[in-house]
Amino acid sequence: MSRGPLEAPERDLSPLPYDIRNLFDAATRHYATKVVCKRCGWTVIFDPHALWWFCKCRGVDMALRGLAGRFRCTVCGQRGPKLSLVRANRSNSSLPMPDYREWKRAVSRYRN
Ligand SMILES: [Zn+2]
Repeated sequence: MSRGPLEAPERDLSPLPYDIRNLFDAATRHYATKVVCKRCGWTVIFDPHALWWFCKCRGVDMALRGLAGRFRCTVCGQRGPKLSLVRANRSNSSLPMPDYREWKRAVSRYRN
């Protein structure tokens, strides 16, 4: 794999990119999480910051490995959708964005 993250509009999560292990990594690299139901094809693209915030508020493990098992389709109820990383500006979910200061605090903790 010689292509950089910005050259690839979409990356499948199997195998996982070595440099993006969790939702925080995805958010700092401006990747949204695309969720596609394997049964009915329902597709939602989550803004990475919003999904990070959603998981942080609920104490959900943010590791990308195993994350699919935590999703359940809102249309047909199927669990374990296909996850992939896409450009963040394509998000279409209605999850609230994180508090700006909370996000900045998380980023500064990560860099120190
Ligand atoms: Zn479905």
